Amino acid sequence: MPVTAYDLTGRTAFVTGAASGIGRASALLLAEAGATVHCADLDTAGLHETAGQIKDGGGTAHIHPLDVTDRSDLRQAVTSCTRLNVLAAIAGIMHNSPVLETRDEDLDRVMSVNFKGVLYACQEAARLMIARGSRGSIVTMASGAVDTGGPGLLCYGAAKAAVVQLTKTLATEVGRYGIRVNAVAPGWIRTPMTERPDDEAQARYEAVMARMSPLGRVGDPEDIAHTVLYLASDASSFTTGQIVRPNGGVAMPW
Ligand code: NAP
Repeated sequence: MPVTAYDLTGRTAFVTGAASGIGRASALLLAEAGATVHCADLDTAGLHETAGQIKDGGGTAHIHPLDVTDRSDLRQAVTSCTRLNVLAAIAGIMHNSPVLETRDEDLDRVMSVNFKGVLYACQEAARLMIARGSRGSIVTMASGAVDTGGPGLLCYGAAKAAVVQLTKTLATEVGRYGIRVNAVAPGWIRTPMTERPDDEAQARYEAVMARMSPLGRVGDPEDIAHTVLYLASDASSFTTGQIVRPNGGVAMPW
């Protein structure tokens, strides 16, 4: 028997980054749980693939090719939902450069996509939820990098730390409308973002990451999608302002 607290039948979700990796896995799982899913991303072909998979599974999907750094496109896409119950703000980019070699334009680009893109989505979604009187759940995507730092992770980690601050602050401001806001901080997950240049390098890196986990493996996008579903659904009805860490128990050694 399905557990009804996870049932999203009749609800509408907006997912950014839905063309790939964690965003796609989350869009598919939210749809499987019954939600109508609005999928947004830069990658139009990837969006069609995600929406096709949702429809093949009997679900309902709409696509919105857009750049999350464009506030007006994002507003148009979010407000096209007649009502909204769930936002999963997942789109993001990786950037790696040592602090001493980091340029202003690196920092600006990463903050723009990984922080402002999440901020704009949260603002538009929360405004719509409040205007329509819908209780809602907002899920943001942080990273284990906010706990550990790490070589080359200045821009990425700073943007993700800002996402954590946004999550906690917004949670305190919209709780009275019945809107919950939580962040997911995954460990190392096998997606296009973490692809290495060749199979050998990939296998070597994954072996290192797997050894760091008490579970002895790296994560898959579906591991994170299940956390997104938990936070999106009534299963987490008394959870807000929290950072959930599906990371295989890894504590980074640096
Ligand atoms: P991914 O497979 O590369 O997916 C990211 C998606 O976001 C891509 O489809 C990408 O499109 C899209 N995107 C990038 N910039 C965008 C923009 N400006 N507007 C709209 N869409 C944009 O990466 P992922 O690993 O699933 O990452 C998803 C999220 O999880 C990110 O926020 C990432 O920081 C976070 N995360 C990942 C890991 C991990 O180990 N994989 C760990 C912790 C946190 P393009 O491909 O066209 O750029």
